[in-house]
Amino acid sequence: MEILKIENLSKVYGKGETAVKALDDVSFSVKKGEFVAIIGPSGSGKSTLLHLVGGVDHPTSGKVLVDNTDIYALNETQLAIFRRRQIGLIYQFYNLIPILTVEENITLPLLLDQHKVDKKQLGDIVKVLNLGDRLSHLPNQLSGGQQQRVSIGRALISNPAIMLADEPTGNLDSKNSSEIIELLKMFNKMYNQTLMVITHDERIALQADRLISIEDGRIAKDEVIRG
Ligand code: ADP
Ligand code: ADP
Repeated sequence: MEILKIENLSKVYGKGETAVKALDDVSFSVKKGEFVAIIGPSGSGKSTLLHLVGGVDHPTSGKVLVDNTDIYALNETQLAIFRRRQIGLIYQFYNLIPILTVEENITLPLLLDQHKVDKKQLGDIVKVLNLGDRLSHLPNQLSGGQQQRVSIGRALISNPAIMLADEPTGNLDSKNSSEIIELLKMFNKMYNQTLMVITHDERIALQADRLISIEDGRIAKDEVIRG
């Protein structure tokens, strides 16, 4: 089953002389549960693509369909709800809120939607992420690996259909990088969560089911390497 359909997606930043075409008529589909690695040179449009899939930016033209919903046909309120329920986003620099504790950072997406926190689910998540003894800490009291695990917790708490990660290990040493990728792969398999990861790390890219290579805003290569 196809969870994600991208149709003729283009993105131009700016106007006139300074306009930059970041994404140029990109189309592809992703199956539920697929693990896709997005590779390509710096500035080729990878982050733009991920942001458009995640509903955090608007395309210049084209469509993003998640579970057959045309997400950019939604109004802003509906789009914000879609984002918090269906999309988990993980960034290179974690993007945690510095004045909130670990527990508050993880449960924030639920609180913003006025949903109750399921204590058992929270307990399960912090257990696998090995953060049980850090719930009352602030982000700056944690190591980089721990901060990234908090951001994974925040991404997981609403059981999103799609996990998007933009260079999730770009700021971590190799031991912490492996840990983060193992966790993402585990949730990908355990919950059949669709996973798209931008990475410069070939060891990570080669663990994916499929490799999509972006160059100059276009798909240069798209190959299934597993499954
Ligand atoms: P990648 O993730 O592959 O490094 P990006 O998607 O970040 O590439 O960027 C693609 C192109 O769009 C680059 O030329 C970049 O400079 C430009 N770009 C990205 N974001 C913006 C922005 N907010 N405003 C203007 N140009 C941008
Ligand atoms: P890692 O092996 O994940 O890189 P570190 O060696 O950076 O971990 O940190 C070891 C321990 O010290 C971690 O459990 C972390 O919570 C704690 N720690 C790291 N930085 C700080 C800090 N600025 N304040 C309080 N505790 C910290």
